[in-house]
Amino acid sequence: MDSRYDIAIVGSGPAGLSAALNAKIRNKSFIIFGNNNLSDKIEKAPKVNNYLGFTSGTGKNLLESFQNHINKMGIEIVNERINTIYSMGDYFTLMVNQKMYEAKTVILATGVEYTKPLKGEEEFIGKGVGYCATCDAPLYKGKRVTIISYNEAGEEEANFVSELAGEVFFVPMYKGDYKLNDSINVIKETPIEIIGESKVSKVLFKNGEELETDGVFLLKNAVPPTQLVPGLEIEDGHIKVDRLMKTNIKGCFAAGDCIGTPYQYIKSAGEGNVAALSAASYLG
Ligand SMILES: Cc1cc2nc3c(=O)[nH]c(=O)nc-3n(C[C@H](O)[C@H](O)[C@H](O)COP(=O)(O)OP(=O)(O)OC[C@H]3O[C@@H](n4cnc5c(N)ncnc54)[C@H](O)[C@@H]3O)c2cc1C
Repeated sequence: MDSRYDIAIVGSGPAGLSAALNAKIRNKSFIIFGNNNLSDKIEKAPKVNNYLGFTSGTGKNLLESFQNHINKMGIEIVNERINTIYSMGDYFTLMVNQKMYEAKTVILATGVEYTKPLKGEEEFIGKGVGYCATCDAPLYKGKRVTIISYNEAGEEEANFVSELAGEVFFVPMYKGDYKLNDSINVIKETPIEIIGESKVSKVLFKNGEELETDGVFLLKNAVPPTQLVPGLEIEDGHIKVDRLMKTNIKGCFAAGDCIGTPYQYIKSAGEGNVAALSAASYLG
């Protein structure tokens, strides 16, 4: 395990990057988790003209400018997806597949997931539907598991699960090369419903085919906040914070799209700044 950081930042969009920048300026030890490409939502913007100091350009141009800034400050993103964060009283444990990290404070900057839940997904949470395949894999020893993955990071989780489960079905919701163990069955169909009675029994696809399964993992770009941090208070579908970006959990702050609309780069960056300064003053 690594040392206990002052601040762990989860998310590498404008909110997380701005938090990291300010943690660095405040001379706090920190770690920032996210993606090598920072955020899909920056890269995908066809045109950005509402970010102060950035006169006009594409999302890619803005991304380059963010990347240059963090490079200059010596900030490196840890390309890992945090599955769960536990508050231990005066510090936090962050779980990543088989690893864990510790930090005195946490800043959640995870963005929002635009994909709508599948029919039946919410109904069967904890009854065969899960969001962390590696955490729950031991429950599926010898069983049939379906992994619906919205990104490449899901491939590593699927490979891990395939060593324990009887059969693994991988349903990619993206195009790619799929670096998967030979034993994994890839299904390139669109899932539309998760079916069951007291627990999950099948996945229904758009083409009308049904797949019998004991469990379904949905590996999305952002884990739902309440799954990520047990006990986190939510209001109108977003993490509830005060003006200092404090959540209801001591030492846990949040910023960016995950705390509410309007979904904007500059709002996210501003809130990331406030969250880092609040974490710094909490640390003393
Ligand atoms: C096509 C498009 C165009 C847009 N155009 C504009 C525009 O012109 N102007 C504007 O102001 N806004 C625009 N937006 C909105 C803007 O993209 C968002 O408001 C902004 O990106 C939110 O920043 P964020 O840091 O809160 O989250 P995000 O940018 O969503 O970043 C969150 C990051 O955290 C990572 N993450 C999530 N969960 C975890 C986890 N558990 N572990 C590790 N990493 C995790 C995600 O993978 C992601 O990289 C646009 C959005 C889209 C989709």
